[in-house]
Amino acid sequence: MADKLIKGISEDKYIRFYAVDAIKTVKEAIKIHKLSVANSILTGKLLLAGLMMSFDLKNKQDLLSIKLDCSGPTKGIITTVKNNGEIKCYINNPAAEFSKETKSFKEFLQDGTISVIKDLGLKEPYIGTIELISGGIGDEMTHYYLKSEQIHTAVSVGIMFNKDGSVKQAGGFVVQLLPFAPEESISKLEENLNFLPNITDLLDMGHSIEEVIEKFVLKDIPSKIYETIEPKYFCDCSYERFLKGISLLSESELNEIIKDNEDIEVVCRFCNKKYTYSPETILKIKQSKKH
Ligand SMILES: [Zn+2]
Repeated sequence: MADKLIKGISEDKYIRFYAVDAIKTVKEAIKIHKLSVANSILTGKLLLAGLMMSFDLKNKQDLLSIKLDCSGPTKGIITTVKNNGEIKCYINNPAAEFSKETKSFKEFLQDGTISVIKDLGLKEPYIGTIELISGGIGDEMTHYYLKSEQIHTAVSVGIMFNKDGSVKQAGGFVVQLLPFAPEESISKLEENLNFLPNITDLLDMGHSIEEVIEKFVLKDIPSKIYETIEPKYFCDCSYERFLKGISLLSESELNEIIKDNEDIEVVCRFCNKKYTYSPETILKIKQSKKH
């Protein structure tokens, strides 16, 4: 089944929601980066959150990144998404794993921050940063929305594994209360959320992501979906793009690269694709810089 990202609103227009079912995307990230179990969970959840937040992006060129920095062994994770649901990620230490003593994600991550960076083509990107409190990605993102965007939001993201360690379910939702929501809608939503099973359990029972919203999260709250897209792990790197990067190096840096007269290999950190540049190509760049 294809991954799915949906967006919708309650009929009274006071409750907005985003939801995602993205087993394939999460599996692809785990495969590309050979992630440990701990990093599969953390990265998987950040990918799910990033996908749902991508609905805030209006233009094709806009980018939204969620960046986790921590003093624990993972060190850092970054996910970057475009408004068409194309997402990619990079993990500083992909093999970092829980130790026998690790009791919680907070203990594993230790001190750190989560930043949301929105590059909307303006002079400066928008950056909102929060300190890690619980280490649970859903809770942290809920905290982010309240603190940085002043929107009452519930974020739930979950990853479920098969016995063999492969991903069985990966899904999440974001619900937001818009200003001036009537008391009745608020209490209905709160009640639904209080009795809500784990999202991955619901998906595993065979409910589609649309049913999770309609029958559980927004039970008795009429709503409609107005956008559905298929997200995927996608890196937009290319031979030309890295060449452009190389051409930004100084003349002495370029000299250093070609001093052994061997091919130069560049590896993309988001998708591990390799690009090879001959010394002649680098020499040409060097010469073109002089003019
Ligand atoms: Zn790439």
